[in-house]
Amino acid sequence: MLDVDNTLLDNDRLKSDVAAALVASLGRAGAERFSELYEQARSDRDGVVDYLEVLRRFGIEQPDLANAAAAIVDGVPFERYLYPGTRGAVEACWAAGTPVVLSDGDPVYQVAKIERSGIAALVRGGVLVYDHKERHVAQVMRRFPAHRYIMVDDKAATLSRMKELMGGRLTSVHVRQGHYADEEAPGPPPDRTIPSIDGLAAALALIA
Ligand SMILES: [Mg+2]
Repeated sequence: MLDVDNTLLDNDRLKSDVAAALVASLGRAGAERFSELYEQARSDRDGVVDYLEVLRRFGIEQPDLANAAAAIVDGVPFERYLYPGTRGAVEACWAAGTPVVLSDGDPVYQVAKIERSGIAALVRGGVLVYDHKERHVAQVMRRFPAHRYIMVDDKAATLSRMKELMGGRLTSVHVRQGHYADEEAPGPPPDRTIPSIDGLAAALALIA
């Protein structure tokens, strides 16, 4: 089970590039308002980002800037944000088992990101996107039955929660990339820690 943001794809860099493009195109005040509406929409939806909703709200307030904002959000070249080691890491997963993307996010933007970045093709269509992945463990296990699971994620808290839910059937791999890299979590620590996704093939060899 492979996470996407800051695991296979540099989402920190993507977000900072989008923020800079919004300032360049909407001006500082417009970009700040866009970011406020983004945070509001996210908290209204229990922490899930919904870009269509953000664009809708922004368009009501600032109709003159709505097209420019939509062009930036819709035009992100996601494929440029894959980590250099991502292809090799997913290939190593195919040698060890069946890789599946397990990602959090909204069903439009996050699915588009996974498709257009090329990640969906790397996992041959095995993509699951939920509002909060740890709330859908039973569905994941029904869809992809296995004796053993390996989860790869940049968030220690998510891995810890999944260990509590799946117990000894799960081996967790913490990829310390992105702004959550040093965040620690209460509960079970990760079984393996790697500094970047480049290290996944070697970690899988030790697990298998
Ligand atoms: Mg992540």
